[in-house]
Amino acid sequence: SVTDEATPGATPPPSPKPLVVRPVTDREERRAPLAPEHVKKLGSDGWKIVIPAGLGERATFTDDAYREAGAAVVDASDDRLRGPGVVLTLFPPTPEEIDGFADGSSVLGFLDPFGSGSSIRRLAERGLDAVSLELVPRTTIAQSMDALSSQANLAGYAAVLLASSRLTKALPMMSTAAGTIRPAKVLVVGTGVAGLQAIATAQRLGARVTAYDVRPVAKEQVESLGARFAKIDLGETGEAKGGYAKALTDDQLTRQREQLAKLCAESDIIITTAQIFGRRAPVIVTDDMVRGMAPGSVIVDAAAATGGNVQGGVAGEERVIDGVTVIADAHLPSRVASDATRVLGANIVNLVTHAFDPRTGRVRGGDRDEITSGVLLTSGGEILDERVRTAVNEGSV
Ligand code: NAD
Repeated sequence: SVTDEATPGATPPPSPKPLVVRPVTDREERRAPLAPEHVKKLGSDGWKIVIPAGLGERATFTDDAYREAGAAVVDASDDRLRGPGVVLTLFPPTPEEIDGFADGSSVLGFLDPFGSGSSIRRLAERGLDAVSLELVPRTTIAQSMDALSSQANLAGYAAVLLASSRLTKALPMMSTAAGTIRPAKVLVVGTGVAGLQAIATAQRLGARVTAYDVRPVAKEQVESLGARFAKIDLGETGEAKGGYAKALTDDQLTRQREQLAKLCAESDIIITTAQIFGRRAPVIVTDDMVRGMAPGSVIVDAAAATGGNVQGGVAGEERVIDGVTVIADAHLPSRVASDATRVLGANIVNLVTHAFDPRTGRVRGGDRDEITSGVLLTSGGEILDERVRTAVNEGSV
């Protein structure tokens, strides 16, 4: 601080600690975990940022912009990108990649705790601290660090634009001299963060929107956006901890499909976003339901990254089934990559500030609060999150 510098003999400030960004190798991924503005902020907080060349290119952030913000830009194969330091990653490293990380490094990013068991196990075996963005608690105070929400919001928006770009109809009603164009009908299944943004986006474009979610509280949220909430009677559905949905029973899922089938058949666009925390997404739209839609209809499955809500959908593929376009896109936020990077980087800066100590370059020790202990997936050789530990030990992930 200023006072320290002015005091002769005071301890000098600690040297900046490294925070390195892993190269993004997935060709469909256009986001970066940090934009130049975040590099600048972290630099002023005592971190030395090292990034691979070309990191933000596909999100419109140049190497020069990162350099000007204070980052060291190095070749993607540079050893420095494997630590020591905080290793920031957009996707889970493989066990072999984890073996290449320097001792004492911490790993921070989307670690897919319920899908990448062998990586999680390896992180623990290496004794590394691993902080998972997926485990940020859904609380008001953690909202600024909640990357799942910031990205789901943009995914919901992008899903509607993608669907409308494939539809051969206009979304709004138009009264023209040549006659009236009727508004397109949009059905949104799952109204969490992504679904609510999909509803809002489709409404703004003038579509007639119907939505459904298993959580009873969703009805009011849907209606407050001006959309219609579909009435589907499944009996008790409840809500799990953190506002997440509970998985339906097989019988409830069957009833849901039966009652949704008519709505699907009437829809021009379906956007599915239904997910269950820690599990595969439920299959809600079956093959028969797809074939029951009019030719030219479009389905965008925004739950594709966790298995998808549409039967037969393959992540990353766009298929036409009996004239119905089914798009399973696991990279929806990449369609708005610069904004997605801006909000994701802000979430990461807030989480780094909260959970890491720039003087040691490590996760804060001592009495950890709910957020820090919530996100800390592995430390001291253990998988700390009980749900993940159980899933990894059972071999179900
Ligand atoms: P999610 O991505 O886990 O799931 C998306 C939606 O799918 C959820 O609304 C869920 O109820 C729904 N769903 C699951 N199975 C379904 C089925 N068979 N049919 C229809 N819908 C189904 O959810 P999310 O977007 O992460 O949000 C989950 C909850 O957490 C919401 O209540 C949200 O408002 C809340 N939340 C709170 C905070 C906060 O307070 N900081 C932040 C983010 C989200």
